[in-house]
Amino acid sequence: MPKNGAMAGNPLQPSPLQPSLLGEAPATAEPATAGTPDLAALERDCRECRRCGLAEGRQRVVVSRGDPAARLMVIGEGPGAQEDASGRPFVGRAGQLLDQMLASVGLDSERDAYVCNVVKCRPPDNRRPTPQEIAACAPWLAAQIAAVNPSVVLLAGATALEGVLGIKGGISRLRGRWHPWQGRSVMPVFHPSYLLRNPSREQGSPKWLTWQDLQEVRRRLDQDQPSTPSL
Ligand code: SF4
Repeated sequence: MPKNGAMAGNPLQPSPLQPSLLGEAPATAEPATAGTPDLAALERDCRECRRCGLAEGRQRVVVSRGDPAARLMVIGEGPGAQEDASGRPFVGRAGQLLDQMLASVGLDSERDAYVCNVVKCRPPDNRRPTPQEIAACAPWLAAQIAAVNPSVVLLAGATALEGVLGIKGGISRLRGRWHPWQGRSVMPVFHPSYLLRNPSREQGSPKWLTWQDLQEVRRRLDQDQPSTPSL
């Protein structure tokens, strides 16, 4: 399926994926397939964004890494210090753990996933982004989702759960469950930073549970594999 449409849509114009609708879109809605923004233009424009106060303290706007043609999209909270310095999401310790955990189920974060965050600029002192900052940045995320058009979305942590599905709290209860959303399969999981603080691999531990979740993600990706037309 083509991932990048030819139209260079402006993500700041009203669209079916505006911020408030990120969490309210009907579960049966289909992913956008036409009129999707050009991802390169979108990312270029995003790097100039000053829609919220996070622009003041940032070094770099951290838009994405990975493959825009991937069927898996990973969405985290926001950049930390290393991401702010490098301009790439999930490259610090948490990102390395994410890479390891994806690799444990045979997924390469650069080749098999498109990785981004709810907010693209680093919050001071790594604090959680405010609802206003999440709302300000939501059109960028919505445009990324529309352009990449993933079939499976991994929400890493409570802020991603809130930013995409509009659900506050409940990551422990909701992780590991599929949430149909806009024709996609969405799964919340613990954020890798939380797993770094809870390193036990004992059965039932957050890390063990996340590994189960990622195995389920892998199964879903395998099930949804587009069939190759027979000649
Ligand atoms: S966090 Fe998002 S909305 Fe705020 S300045 Fe950065 S790109 Fe713009």
